[in-house]
Amino acid sequence: MTVVVLALDALDAGLVEYFDATEFELESSKQIQTFAHSKDNPYTPEVWATVATGLGPDEHGITGSGTSEWNNSIFEFASRFTGRLDESTRGTLGRFVREKTGEREQIGETDVESIFDRDGAVVHNWPGVHDGSDLQRAWDLMNAVAEGKPKHEFEQELLGLAAQQFGWVREMLHHNVALAGVHIHTLDAAGHAYAEDEESLQRIYQRVAGFVDELVQILNPDDNLLLLSDHGMCTSFYRPTDRDGSPGSHSWRAYASSTTTDVPADVFDVVDWIDEHVKNGTIADEQIDIDEEHLKNLGYI
Ligand SMILES: [Zn+2]
Repeated sequence: MTVVVLALDALDAGLVEYFDATEFELESSKQIQTFAHSKDNPYTPEVWATVATGLGPDEHGITGSGTSEWNNSIFEFASRFTGRLDESTRGTLGRFVREKTGEREQIGETDVESIFDRDGAVVHNWPGVHDGSDLQRAWDLMNAVAEGKPKHEFEQELLGLAAQQFGWVREMLHHNVALAGVHIHTLDAAGHAYAEDEESLQRIYQRVAGFVDELVQILNPDDNLLLLSDHGMCTSFYRPTDRDGSPGSHSWRAYASSTTTDVPADVFDVVDWIDEHVKNGTIADEQIDIDEEHLKNLGYI
């Protein structure tokens, strides 16, 4: 019995419907509440650390100021606008950003307890909690596409990274794992790059939806899946409300979808949802029973 949590960065509740990407709509699904702390809009590392701990940035300690790369205002400015610039301007700006960001520091990890500290839990990569290297790879790809990397190369590498992450989840289903979590940055990177390119962004949504569907097909009857996002993505072609910012900025349309009858209503509620749906101690208890039986058979007890 495994609960899988897929952290699908920037999966936009409105775009799921707009693109008719029904594979994301599991047994229950809806737009959920997210928050902004150090910025005007929801900020990736702050929200994912909150999802995993149930605490706000002041308590889990992962804020803009704790992570130099994410806190670089030039980089954020550029990532918001590169989708709107012509190729040569993008390249110039991308190089400027890379020079200004300089050497990278490690992405911060919280010291407080997270959902992945429990028995039987495993995590592949998760901003603010465990292993930021996959996120850095996705950021590198966003830089590269801003510098003029061809679309087909960007998509090949970005989706290759996603395939590795989904592949890891699929393997975990064959092991004694109570909770498996992974953060997947594909839709955020594609959303920034294609904020004004509807056809391309829809293609990436459909590919990621395909990965989700392949995973759903191999779940055992007692496994469950929770999809979450930290925010959505503002685009030029889908602007349902006046609240939408410039294309390539983060929208407030965070999303949750699950194979159970309920989803968390707020990014702060995910810890409670996990407590309710992940069977603590099941694995350990089974292990003890098996060992006792084995010992009896051997005549030791
Ligand atoms: Zn994000």
